[in-house]
Formats: sequence, structure tokens, C-alpha cells
Amino acid sequence: MSRSVLFPLPEERRAREDRLGALLDAAALRVAAGPVTPDFDASAFTTALAGFDFAQPIELDDLLGWTVEQLEHGLVQITHPRYLGLFNPAPAFPAQCADRIAARFNPQLATATTSPAAVAIEAHVIRAMAARAGLGTQAGGHFTTGGSEANQTALACALTRAEPGFATGGSRAFAGQPVFYISKDSHLAWIKLAHLAGIGRAAARLVPTDGQGRMSVAALAAALAADRRAGCAPVMIVATAGTTNAGMIDPLASCAAVARGAGVWFHVDAAWGGAAIVSPALRGLLDGIEQADSITIDAHKFLAATMGCGMLLLARPAQLAGVFGVETSYMPSHEPGADPYVTSVQWSRRFLGLRLFLALGAAGWAGYGAHVERAVALARLLAARMQGHGWSLLNDPSLAVLSLLPPEGSAPVRDIVARVLASGGAWVSVATFEGRAVLRACITNGETTAADIAEVAELLERCR
Ligand SMILES: *Cc1c(COP(=O)(O)O)cnc(C)c1O
Repeated sequence: MSRSVLFPLPEERRAREDRLGALLDAAALRVAAGPVTPDFDASAFTTALAGFDFAQPIELDDLLGWTVEQLEHGLVQITHPRYLGLFNPAPAFPAQCADRIAARFNPQLATATTSPAAVAIEAHVIRAMAARAGLGTQAGGHFTTGGSEANQTALACALTRAEPGFATGGSRAFAGQPVFYISKDSHLAWIKLAHLAGIGRAAARLVPTDGQGRMSVAALAAALAADRRAGCAPVMIVATAGTTNAGMIDPLASCAAVARGAGVWFHVDAAWGGAAIVSPALRGLLDGIEQADSITIDAHKFLAATMGCGMLLLARPAQLAGVFGVETSYMPSHEPGADPYVTSVQWSRRFLGLRLFLALGAAGWAGYGAHVERAVALARLLAARMQGHGWSLLNDPSLAVLSLLPPEGSAPVRDIVARVLASGGAWVSVATFEGRAVLRACITNGETTAADIAEVAELLERCR
């Protein structure tokens, strides 16, 4: 019999795990065959949820069954093969294995002293990714909860390098208002990161695009010069590799040259597009990324790790200690200044990097390259199908994102998208590309097939 429901004996744990595994497998089959959009009774769910007052314990198997059933019906199913949505992956199996291992050992990655094997595995994967990006053999970095934490860390490094007095005095240490540059099509989480950094939302300068969804280098140089004349203190240029709207890539090498000329930090926000470094066929799209001071890549996007799993890669990782270094009496540390808790935002730290270690280990660079290239090929296939129906493709589909415009005389894009979602047959979204409302579709699932694409194409055509 059971010792306690929180800490069951091995046989009972095993039996429950087996039942949960069977439940999840059955639900996954039904999800793939069912609607992409939620199909549950929201008011019945709300009532049922309110009934959990935690006054009496409930049989765990019942709770697990209830939860799986709610998620089976109460989610946009991002693991569905016709979810052509935002940058959310159908997670790779080895990454899911990693979550299971991490949950079982629950290693604390704050220090290498307490978790030497886990910290070393993460550092090894980070060095491999950084080298692949072209940052060199001295490069480093760490895993983050996602792209937002990685970008926040890059901003903190840039501010500290631009004005060492920022560390103790904050933004008052700057002679003028610190500012940084992102394109207007960048991920606008940068605005809240500016708020969080204490430099104010206005510090995020939105640079116009060039008519094709990429940062205009001329406008960037002009904005920088105008800010300098006004007494502001430029600290960083951020180029996006894979915009959220359209998967566009800012001109990385030109942005790097402007940053070098201005003596400011150059960051590449490649949360989505950074995955192209795994593919020899696609790597050329990111030429110039190797000149970055720092790079954000989300393993939980195009690299299909479970959420959230970001990475910050730095050419000179020693800079992290200047931002995150603190001294405590209670943390075990053999190598002062090197542990994750003094080189990153997090303190208690989950073993996120194992997901990429196992997935990359199992697939190899070539297997991962094939995963990314396959998505791009399917996106091109969908574009060709829609063009065959008279639709236009406005963007460059090189990173598996499409900005589609229906032919003259069709319903407005938001109505088309609403009809698609109401059908449950696929998930696509509305986006704005260079001022026009477009239908956005993105391949994020390694199991989407050409037959799925044909089905989506027919559905889009029917809904217009
Ligand atoms: C997703 C994304 C972010 C935010 O990352 P999270 O992992 O969601 O925190 C930032 N920038 C870009 C370009 C992104 O695609």
C-alpha cells in the first residue's frame, strides 16, 4: 500500500506512470485527428474548476484523467499537424525525455559544486551552439527561461559595458538618456524589457523597415546620429533574425557595421531564426551573426524543445559576471565567479539544457538540419499552392513563415482567419506586413505532411 500520495512507493509510482503514459498517448491520437481549436464547454469547465476547494483529497488518477481531458479539449492544439501558428513547437521526443529526467533528479543548477554533471552538460551544449553560430571558441552563455530572459540579459550587459557606473548608479550614471535600437517589426517585448531595466520604455527606439519587413540600415544610422546630437547615449543595436510577423531577417552584417562604427553592443535576436545555424543549406541566411556580441536563440521554437528553453550566447561571456556577480556566505562555490547563479538572472535553475543535449545528440546536426529544412520546404509548398489559387506571397519564406494575401474580391483577412478557426481544420493568424493585413502561416511541427498542407490550402481557399 501507498506510503503517501506525495511520495509513493516505487511499485505504485510505476503503475501510475504507466497509466498516465497510456492516457497521454490515447489523448495525443485523438488530438491529431480532432479540431485544432478548443472544443470544450467553457462554462461547465469553469464550474468544475471552482469545485476544487482542496478541502478533501481526491484520488490522483482521477485528477490526472480530469486534467488530460481538459487539456485535450481546452487548448489550441499546438502539437496538431495543422497548427500553422506562432512560434510554438510540437516538442521533439528526446526533449520530453529530458523533462522526465530533470523532474526525477530535480538537479539544482545554481552551482557547479552541487550539480557538476548537469552544469557541464549545459555549458557543453551552449559552447557547441555558440561555435556553430560562429562566435568562436571563447564564446559561452547559458540557458534561459526563454527569449525574453535572454534579451533582458543582453540589454543588461550592453548597459553595463556602455557605462560601468550603471552597475551601482543605475541609469543616472549615464550623461544622457540611454537608448537602444530595434526595428518596428522586432519582438515588442523589448519595450517591457526597457521598462524593466529602469531606462524607460522610450529608450527602445523603433527603427522603420525597408518596405520588405527588415530594419532600414539608413534609418538606423540616421536615428543613431540624431540621438547623439540630442545628447542621448546609444548602447545597443538589436537585429532580428526571424521577425514574429513574417520571419524576416534584418541585414545582419550591415547592422553589425553600424554598431561597430558607433561603438555599441550588437545583439541578434534570433529566437526563431537562429535555428538556421544547424543547416548548411540555410546558414547563409544568417551571414553576419558571427559578428554579434550576443545572440538569443530559443530552443523551444524552431528547435522543437519543450517550453520554455532559451539560450543567450555571448562572444565574451566574462561580461556576465560584471552584471550578475554577488557574494553570499551560504552558496557552495569552488570556482568563484563561474557558477550560473552569479552569471545569469536565475538563482534556482532547472536543467533546461538537457532537452537540447538529448535532441541534438539523438538527431545530430544533420538530423536537426533536416527538421528545419523540411519546415521551410513545406512552407514553400503552401505558398505555391496558394499562388496557384491566385493568392500572393508578400514576404521571403526562407524561415518557414508566410505572409499571404488573398486575391482581389475575397473577404477581409480577419474574416477568412475567423472562418478557418471556426472550422477547427487548421490554425493560422492575422498579421501586419508593411502596413497590410495578411494571413500568417508558419510551419512549427516536424510531423506536418504534404497532405496536411494540401488540406490547409483547400480550407483557406474555401474560407476566402
Ligand atoms: C519568441 C520571441 C521572443 C520572446 O521569447 P520568449 O521565449 O517568448 O520569451 C523574442 N524575440 C523574438 C524574435 C521571438 O521570436
